Amino acid sequence: MILGIESTAHTFGLGIVENGKVIANAKDTYTTNSGGIIPIEAARHHKNVSEEVYSKFLQEAKIKGSEIDAIAFSQGPGLAPCLIEGIKFAKELSRKLNKPLIPVNHCIAHLEVGKITGAKDPVMLYASGANTQVIAYASEKYRIFGETLDIGIGNFIDTFARYLGMGFPGGPKIEKLALESKNYIELPYKVKGMDIALSGILTNLKQKVESGKFRREDLAYSMQETVFAMLVEVSERAMAHIGKKELLLGGGVGCNKRLQEMARIMCEERDAKFFVPDNSLLTDNGAMIAFAGEIMFKSGIKFSPNKLNKLDIKPRQRTDEVEVTWR
Ligand code: AMP
Ligand code: MG
Repeated sequence: MILGIESTAHTFGLGIVENGKVIANAKDTYTTNSGGIIPIEAARHHKNVSEEVYSKFLQEAKIKGSEIDAIAFSQGPGLAPCLIEGIKFAKELSRKLNKPLIPVNHCIAHLEVGKITGAKDPVMLYASGANTQVIAYASEKYRIFGETLDIGIGNFIDTFARYLGMGFPGGPKIEKLALESKNYIELPYKVKGMDIALSGILTNLKQKVESGKFRREDLAYSMQETVFAMLVEVSERAMAHIGKKELLLGGGVGCNKRLQEMARIMCEERDAKFFVPDNSLLTDNGAMIAFAGEIMFKSGIKFSPNKLNKLDIKPRQRTDEVEVTWR
C-alpha cells in the first residue's frame, strides 16, 4: 500500500493506492470568497488541516498507518510554501512509521494516473491551475511538446472570474455561466507554433468587463470557446507530430464539459481515442501521487528514513528534467 501526499498549491490531499487501484482519496482545499490564492495562506491551510485529514482519512479507509509500505509526496513543481508543508508532513510520517519516501513530479503523476482510464501511451493535455502543457513520452522522457508562454489556463480562468466578482476557484462558476450564452464575441486567438499565450486575452477580457458593454455570460462563453480551441489545436498538432493515437485530459480545467466535448470531437475526427479520468482524479489529489509513487517504488525508487536529508522540494522542476527509469 502506497500513501500519496499532494500539497503543490490549493489542495492538501491524501490517497492510498494498492496494485494500481485507488483504495482511498481525500482532500481539503483552500478556497476564497473573492481573491485568488495567497501562497502563505494556502500553506497555513495545509499545515492546519494535515493532521486531521490524515487521521480521518485512515479511519474512513479502515487502514492502519503500519499497513502503509511507502509514502509518496509531490516534490514539485508548485508553490514553495505549500510544498514545504507537504514534505515536512511526509518526512515526519516517514520517521514515525519507519517507511521510505518516494519523491513524485506532480505533472507526471497527472499523466500516470490517467492510465487508470485505459490510456496506454497518450498525449496528455494537462490543463490545471498553474500548469498548461501538452506532454507525451518520447525518447526516454516525458517531454513537453507545447505549453503556455505566460500563465496557466486555470489561473487565467480564475483571474477572469475575479474580474466578474467571483472567488477562487472560478472555473466551475464560469462553466455554468457560459452555458447561458451562444453569442460569440470575438477575442484574440493566440497560438504560437506549439505554444499558447493567455495574458493578452486576459487584458482584452478585462477591458471588455470594465467597459460594461458586454453581457457576462457572453464573455464567459466566448472565453471558453476561444481558449479551449487553442488548447485542442496544440494538442492535435502534438498528436500528429509524434504519431500518437490517444489523447488524455489531465488537470482541474479538464473537468470542464465543453473542453471535454471539443477534445472528444477532435479525436473522433482523426480516429484517435479520447480518455478523461473522473473529476476526483483530474483536480489535484493524493491518489495520483500514490499511483505514480507505486510505479516508481516497484522500480526501486525510494529514500529510507535515514536518507531523508537528501530530499528537498523542487518548486520549479520541469517535466522533462525527471529521469524516467520506471518505464
Ligand atoms: P488543479 O490545479 O489541477 O487542481 O486545477 C485547479 C483549476 O481547475 C482551478 O483553476 C479551477 O478553476 C479549474 N477548474 C476546476 N473545475 C473547472 C471547470 N469545470 N471548468 C474550468 N476550470 C475548472
Ligand atoms: Mg495539478
